[in-house]
Amino acid sequence: MTEMDPSKKVADRYLKREVLGEGTYGVVYKAIDTKTGQTVAIKKIRLGKQKEGVNFTALREIKLLKELKDPNIIELIDAFPHKGNLHLVFEFMETDLEAVIRDRNIFLSPADIKSYIQMTLKGLAFCHKKWVLHRDMKPNNLLIGPNGQLKLADFGLARVFGSPDRKFTHQVFARWYRAPELLFGTKQYGAGVDVWAAACIFAELLLRRPFLQGTSDIDQLGKIFAAFGTPTSSQWPDMVYLPDYVEYQFVPAPPLRSLFPMASDDTLDLLSKMFTYDPKARISVQQALEHRYFSSAPLPTDPAKLPRPTPKSRVSDINPQDGPTVLSPPRKSRRVMPDRERFEGNSNLAEKINECDGEVRQAVGDVAGKKEHVPTSVDFSIFGSKPLSRPTINRLWVYWVNLFPHVMIFFYFLRECHLACV
Ligand code: ADP
Repeated sequence: MTEMDPSKKVADRYLKREVLGEGTYGVVYKAIDTKTGQTVAIKKIRLGKQKEGVNFTALREIKLLKELKDPNIIELIDAFPHKGNLHLVFEFMETDLEAVIRDRNIFLSPADIKSYIQMTLKGLAFCHKKWVLHRDMKPNNLLIGPNGQLKLADFGLARVFGSPDRKFTHQVFARWYRAPELLFGTKQYGAGVDVWAAACIFAELLLRRPFLQGTSDIDQLGKIFAAFGTPTSSQWPDMVYLPDYVEYQFVPAPPLRSLFPMASDDTLDLLSKMFTYDPKARISVQQALEHRYFSSAPLPTDPAKLPRPTPKSRVSDINPQDGPTVLSPPRKSRRVMPDRERFEGNSNLAEKINECDGEVRQAVGDVAGKKEHVPTSVDFSIFGSKPLSRPTINRLWVYWVNLFPHVMIFFYFLRECHLACV
């Protein structure tokens, strides 16, 4: 009698139910674990052309994810290969923060917002304590369980699998949540990138719409500078050394209160510390959790009492006609790449990760890919009114001067070809 395939044995343990949705890496099913009776979500990851299966690094990292256990992190219960796909079994969650933010029937009080952002930061603090970056923080990766617990999901998957669509593999982080150092093409980044993304989520909870909705990486930087002013070198000394740094004309920072008119002073203080330009000066997640915002009134709402959409109401189920839309960028454009990062400003972390990796891959954005044009202005559209004058970039003429010899060579070459043909 032939021995049963061990992966089939594991697969048989889970009774597949309906499809929950299709994500970047493949289909997600609801399933029942027949051994425990628990409802789970199984993410079936297409291994595509990687016929040889998941590589050693990926397996090691999956093992690492399995060991990350915290009340604010989604539990990876199991991982097994089956029929050429990798199956990741997660605890089942009812909804996500994007659905909460978009649901116009939900009123979020300051105490509710405090609770959601506190759980987000607690999950992140745990990851950072374990020397792991999330790197794909966005509201639809913050899942919400039946008891109102918020849990970070899609943790480290980008690092393990990257984007299945090669066109997007140069992208790190969902653009709207991307820190300025990433947009300037830094290759060495640290926990600060998650703090910036968490600040964007915080702002989104307050505004009930994504805060900085850039349409390209350049536009994203324009939106950031319009909101917080163009960074000066005294504010962020290392900025000018970043690979894709381009000088933007200076625009002063408008008062933060003008962007968040209803927010308390404590809220604004914490936001400004999380949105600090220089990643070395940016507040850490742990420091953010210790900020007086969390200890002052109103205290965070008990998670069980948090307003949430009715179970099963996910973003994909919401009819866009139902109310004012808060649009996420197309899923794929918000995806990430598989890369190996060094942790910036945190040498221990850097060494720890690189010990495992042996290689440092670049976190290259559109800017680095030189796919976009040189920025010509800072975008003021977040203010809803047109600026009096659109500041232009100072160094545009340098590009034309550099281009001139190439144009001349091209015409010379054309002439030679023409003469050869005649
Ligand atoms: P993406 O890659 O775009 O972030 P995912 O692959 O994470 O999408 O998820 C696809 C769908 O499956 C989404 O609707 C998501 O809400 C749902 N989903 C993912 N993980 C879980 C889970 N643990 N419990 C319930 N639903 C989940």
